[in-house]
Amino acid sequence: GTAQAHPLLNGLNEPQKQAVCLPAEHGLILAGAGSGKTRVLTTRIAWLMQTGQVSPQGILAVTFTNKAAREMLTRLSAMVPINVRSLWVGTFHGLCHRLLRTHWRAARLPETFQILDTGDQQAAIKRLIKAMGVDEERFPPRDMMHYINALKEQGIRSGQAEAHDAHTRRKVEIYAEYEAQCQREGAVDFAELLLRAYELLQQDEALRTHYQQRFRHILVDEFQDTNPLQYAWLQLLCGPQTVIFAVGDDDQSIYAFRGADVANMRAFERNYAKGNVIRLEQNYRSHGNILTAANALITNNADRLGKNLWTDAGEGELIRVFQGVSDLDEARYIVDEIRELTREGLPRHQMALLYRSNAQSRVLEHALFQAGIAYRVYGGLRFFERMEVKHALAYLRLIANQDDDTAFLRVVNFPTRGIGARSLEALQLEARQLNSSLYNAAASLTGKAGTAVGQFIRMIEGLRTETTGLSLPEVIDHLLDRSGLRQHYQAEKDGQDRLENLEELVNAAATFADDPEAAHNIDRDTGEATSLLADFLAHAALEAGEHQAGDQDEAVQLMTVHSAKGLEFSAVFIVGLEQGLFPHENAMMARDGLEEERRLMYVAITRARQRLYLCHAQTRMLHGQTRYCLPSSFLDELPEALLQRINTVPAWSAGSYSTGWSEAPAVDMTTRVSARAAGAAESAGGFHVGQNVVHTKFGAGVILAAEGRGEEARVQVRFGQAGTKWLALAYAKLEAV
Ligand code: ATP
Ligand code: MG
Repeated sequence: GTAQAHPLLNGLNEPQKQAVCLPAEHGLILAGAGSGKTRVLTTRIAWLMQTGQVSPQGILAVTFTNKAAREMLTRLSAMVPINVRSLWVGTFHGLCHRLLRTHWRAARLPETFQILDTGDQQAAIKRLIKAMGVDEERFPPRDMMHYINALKEQGIRSGQAEAHDAHTRRKVEIYAEYEAQCQREGAVDFAELLLRAYELLQQDEALRTHYQQRFRHILVDEFQDTNPLQYAWLQLLCGPQTVIFAVGDDDQSIYAFRGADVANMRAFERNYAKGNVIRLEQNYRSHGNILTAANALITNNADRLGKNLWTDAGEGELIRVFQGVSDLDEARYIVDEIRELTREGLPRHQMALLYRSNAQSRVLEHALFQAGIAYRVYGGLRFFERMEVKHALAYLRLIANQDDDTAFLRVVNFPTRGIGARSLEALQLEARQLNSSLYNAAASLTGKAGTAVGQFIRMIEGLRTETTGLSLPEVIDHLLDRSGLRQHYQAEKDGQDRLENLEELVNAAATFADDPEAAHNIDRDTGEATSLLADFLAHAALEAGEHQAGDQDEAVQLMTVHSAKGLEFSAVFIVGLEQGLFPHENAMMARDGLEEERRLMYVAITRARQRLYLCHAQTRMLHGQTRYCLPSSFLDELPEALLQRINTVPAWSAGSYSTGWSEAPAVDMTTRVSARAAGAAESAGGFHVGQNVVHTKFGAGVILAAEGRGEEARVQVRFGQAGTKWLALAYAKLEAV
């Protein structure tokens, strides 16, 4: 039937309106990329509230990233005048964390429980394996971490894990010890957040009923990527009065490797949505050629739920396919095109560079940096994951929770306090025997080690009393001095960057403390409040990679295809389209691996609005080796008529790669090749940008920029350890590698 009229529905097409106004029954929106699923979901929340069908407290909405949650809250507050704080909108991890913070007691957690990020988790497992006297070679901590997380994601505790051989039995034992260690330390890893929240609802009937009655509408974006535990968690929250509204696209399911299961979508359709399935077929994001390419690619997958996308936006430009000689060549081409797009007036944040693996970003970053183009890497080394920041956070964590052994070990001897590995082993042994935290075991440690550790404990106690009543940024500022961290980096020759990051941490805390939406872990209904400190630490662990203030607007966006899900950009460069890289060689081993890679490619293509670049190179440096690459088989799956070939590979060389099309005449080859030649002449003293070098004192690095000639020649080098430096070639002991 025709949907209702309401100002919120203006501009939506008929099926979109129907979806927004679906009666209070379970429903599934099954639709392709860019068809307005997320827009429909957001509008539905606003519409439900504005038409008085639900209060903000009655909404639970799951988004794929924290960024998406923030965007949704921003859009909602523009559409309806509400206090967004009372809304439960977030990722599965964020929402589960909120639940556990609110009901820490019922979840059998200490009030100050801390979140372990992946790095912390691996360190904790490594420490445990050592304490158990287990052979690290046979049970690598990293593998153990994956093993444990995979079980948790299936809802399996160590007590339920199956083991039919000695090796697996040992793994289960390690899992059990790890559970005990986390419980003792009040530490919760990412997988545990979900499992704990699930068990909490499952075991506590009163609590479950409370939330079932509270949440009248559960809305889930990117439903195709839920894993079985997340789906089970949703089912627990769904009471007799609750309505679930799920939106998804089976063609964009890209997390099977992490246990996500498209079958959830079929199960949901069968058991909940029943007849209520709405398909959206008009794409509002991309120009015709881009959409046709995406459609053509994905038809190569079998077993799809089947959708067809169309647009009335017109064909638009051809898709540019660039073949370069090397990855450096590819990066230079991209820089040139970014400059051109900038001249045409496109803002930088509307340009995205998408790659299959994080390792690919390095070359691109160098090229952008050298060209003076602002860029922002999502999911690179996150601010909160930097060493000095983690050190400072460890002190903060110890103030909040002294039983946090991971934090304890990180800073007990940093800055150095003469506490050696021996003493720490003795302490760990003592703690195991007493079944207590390292902090509490310290008292029974004797001798010189006992004195040194005792001093550390007194310092933490001192910190705790001295900082009572201070604001969060003041606490951090104080601990930087009291712990000796600030002095340590002041004394260090190249500590300037790290000092700046520590000051930035104080700033981040100030921003966080001032943000009225920051304290979103305080549940005003139950009145249980957590401290700002705990909130800030959780923020550091959960939201680290996605948000950095300031540099958003004028920066080119760099990210993996996985993290681009749900986003859109005017111009998209997909880089490294080569066999083994994209599709990735690891995927070839997995069942349906190629199909998942193809869905990933589909996600990548459909991020583009107007202009799409598909780039690949003949040679690429990866993991320290030069690889010779063949073009991605996905390129062959795109209709040739949609493509414009751009080629900088000399004809004699292109001929040796008989891929059929690489000899195709280059559109603007001559100009490009001559531009390259000019670039080469700029190299200083035999060195060139992008080159790997070794310095006698600073070690290995890579040249970012070069200037001047002869005696005057200088190069800027980024060293692995020593940071970035300008060096005069006449004096510097620099060698090419
Ligand atoms: P994805 O599968 O990539 O997550 P999606 O289905 O969630 O995509 P949206 O991001 O909601 O799609 O919408 C894609 C773009 O189309 C957005 O810019 C959105 O504002 C726009 N859009 C959606 N519906 C309409 C409409 N009816 N009229 C105009 N623009 C629309
Ligand atoms: Mg979306």
